[in-house]
Amino acid sequence: MKTAIGIDLGGTKIAGGVVDEMGAVVVREQLPSDVHHPDQLIAQIAKLAEDLGSPDVVGVGIGAAGLIDHAHGRYLYGPNTGLRDLDLAEMIADAVGMPVSLDNDANCAAWGEHRFGCGRGTRDFLCITLGTGIGGGFVFGGRPYRGAHGGAAEVGHILVDPDGPLCGCGRYGCWEQFASGMALERLAAAEIPAHPDSVLAGEGRIAGPMITRAARDGDAFALDLVARTARWVGWGLASLVNVFEPERIAVAGGIASDWDLFGEDAVTALSERAEAPEYRPMPEVTASALGPDSGVVGAALLVLDPAYR
Ligand SMILES: [Zn+2]
Repeated sequence: MKTAIGIDLGGTKIAGGVVDEMGAVVVREQLPSDVHHPDQLIAQIAKLAEDLGSPDVVGVGIGAAGLIDHAHGRYLYGPNTGLRDLDLAEMIADAVGMPVSLDNDANCAAWGEHRFGCGRGTRDFLCITLGTGIGGGFVFGGRPYRGAHGGAAEVGHILVDPDGPLCGCGRYGCWEQFASGMALERLAAAEIPAHPDSVLAGEGRIAGPMITRAARDGDAFALDLVARTARWVGWGLASLVNVFEPERIAVAGGIASDWDLFGEDAVTALSERAEAPEYRPMPEVTASALGPDSGVVGAALLVLDPAYR
């Protein structure tokens, strides 16, 4: 069976795997990433591809955080990386001696879920990556949708409050400032002084997993933070449903592993704010089926799946 190397290039780590045509990850490896030094980063990716290489590997697919011009293999811009305007696919192809294809990481996760995860059998499908920030990937009519220049589905930067917090993109009040792991942490830091009884009181920096753990233990403050963040998730999804009306929505990223905590409030908020839920089916919203592998599987499909072009 043909295999390809899928690489999920994030702001802090590079996850790689050898993926077969059935979407199974047969070998995997992970490295810390150095996204502020392109030469170093290319050497890291080449090393990972070399380590994972085998005779049946036919190419390398890379899903990278940031704006990507898939058609030309160019990395255009990433708010959280130092990479700008690079012919990244060509640079890596030269280093590894194999064909390389490049796409946005959330687009890859969406295609991975569409082919082998909870988007199977759908034609119109969204995958929303709720992690530190928010990413998105669209499948319309069974095809990936990237927009005119490759920058579509940047749903995290939908404006929801012009007076809201400053975003990594340099603008104010984007959805990811209200509905992400980062938003959850900011809310906790701002309000903890008023909640001395919470188990989170007296902690230094309150990280997202501490909040979800406290919520699972029944901490009232943590449960309230989760519920309010979940509502913002649902309100944003309602706008996406009004615009795109997908059959199904997958939630990937860090928050997906806690979807049992967020899901119910998010889905309630979605049906309260989407237009006319009484007159049409609302999409099913589920945590990604492939979990942290969706990006690696989708990236490999850039090489293996002729429908993912
Ligand atoms: Zn933004």
